[in-house]
Amino acid sequence: EQAEIGLIGLGVMGSNLALNIAEKGNKIAVFNRTPEVTKKFYADAGELQGQIIPCETIEEFVAAIRPPRPIIIMIKAGDPVDQQMEILKPHLENGDIMIDAGNANFRDTIRRFDNLKDSGLTFIGMGVSGGEEGARHGPSIMVGGTEDSWKRVEKVLTSISAKYDNEPCVAWLGNDGAGHFVKTIHNGIEYADMQMIAEIYGILRDGLNLSASEIADVFAEWNKGRLNSYLIEITEKVLRAADPITGKPMVDLILDKAGQKGTGKWSVIEAQNMGVAATAIEAAVAARILSSQKDERESAEKIFGLPKALAAPADKKAFIADLENALLAAKIGAYAQGFAVMSAASKEFGWNLPMPTIARIWRAGCIIRSQFLDEITSAFTKDPHVANLIVTPAFSQMVKDTDAPLRRVVSHAVLSGLPVPALASALGYFDAYRRARGSANLIQAQRDFFGAHGFERIDGVDKPHGPWGSGLDIF
Ligand code: NDP
Repeated sequence: EQAEIGLIGLGVMGSNLALNIAEKGNKIAVFNRTPEVTKKFYADAGELQGQIIPCETIEEFVAAIRPPRPIIIMIKAGDPVDQQMEILKPHLENGDIMIDAGNANFRDTIRRFDNLKDSGLTFIGMGVSGGEEGARHGPSIMVGGTEDSWKRVEKVLTSISAKYDNEPCVAWLGNDGAGHFVKTIHNGIEYADMQMIAEIYGILRDGLNLSASEIADVFAEWNKGRLNSYLIEITEKVLRAADPITGKPMVDLILDKAGQKGTGKWSVIEAQNMGVAATAIEAAVAARILSSQKDERESAEKIFGLPKALAAPADKKAFIADLENALLAAKIGAYAQGFAVMSAASKEFGWNLPMPTIARIWRAGCIIRSQFLDEITSAFTKDPHVANLIVTPAFSQMVKDTDAPLRRVVSHAVLSGLPVPALASALGYFDAYRRARGSANLIQAQRDFFGAHGFERIDGVDKPHGPWGSGLDIF
């Protein structure tokens, strides 16, 4: 019996994905550049061995799969993917589908897809979220490619995906780079979500002087409410864990330098490319960069010291309730921005991205999974073409209920010198977005003054320049 699908790359993600595929009753052929890895993988597969065909050569591997052959490539992102595709190509036949399941830049995905045009072969760019655990037991899967190629893999991918209320967290989202683009924005939102949680943690730790375990209690409580989500859940667990060596809270012993692999940065670059304000995601990426500059921060603290903090609010309970609402408000801002970037990209690349479906497949399996995404799913289902999530009836009500707490929290943090760039940028975004008459009239006047750029008048009178002479007079 031939395999239903093939997989190349038995690293952390690939091996877990392969076991998941086998476990769900799909026969799978596997290959890894270093054959010892394949041998070990097969030897460790236990009762799933019957579903796995381990292959040591590409010829053997390709022959083991039922045509048209879907082949998942789950290897190091970048050049290795192009190299692997070149190696595979001569062995493939009309209709075969190479599927890049790594964290690719969607622009590379579009290029790879286009390069295969007229070759008889096709390409799927597939975003897989949920880390190792997700790959093994059910990831969220975002697929981009032709609809025909999706139909060939739909059954297998549906069987391995995460489920939310029995609904599979996998969908075909559009042509070429659609899946990898959506995965990129997922990661950008993830950056913002994590940064906002970290900022709130910073206020609890440095503004209220709570211990790690006291903060864990706060997050445990929040996880029962509207913030219920995987990230809040693991935050509580992280805060509770003790270091096995010293017995101290683990989190207190971890250096405050955050790493990043690039998808957050890509989100920000693409937001800028599309002309969409994604300030919370930008703030989150910038905050990781600043976090990594530990030496410079230490030197700067020696020069400036720290500002004198405000006294902790007298009503601690009320302030903690404010923090919960502030986090919700800011989170709405970040998600609204992420969806706005996707909406702009959808038009630019002609993908027709289905917003309710994207929210739906993020409800389980991925890192940002939450009850909140179920609410986003409903909001977009009722109004799939709305300009911005925050003006949907459900979310506008949430913003009305929570923007005052966000304002109080940001004010308190700012006056105490506690950095809250992501929370503050979400607030700044609301304040700019909700105000019909802003201050850009002055910018237009300045631009006209020095560059004769002209402006529109509020009274409709057709007089495109101001009474400031040539502007160069001041020189
Ligand atoms: P690993 O480092 O665990 O595995 C790397 C794999 O790539 C190995 O199988 C390796 O083969 C293979 N490889 C590397 N270079 C080449 C090459 N030039 N030709 C062929 N094979 C090559 O990686 P991960 O499993 O962590 O990540 C794989 C992909 O999944 C990446 O794109 C990553 O960004 C993405 N991803 C990772 C997540 C995670 O949580 N780890 C989450 C979501 C996506 P060999 O054994 O021969 O060295």
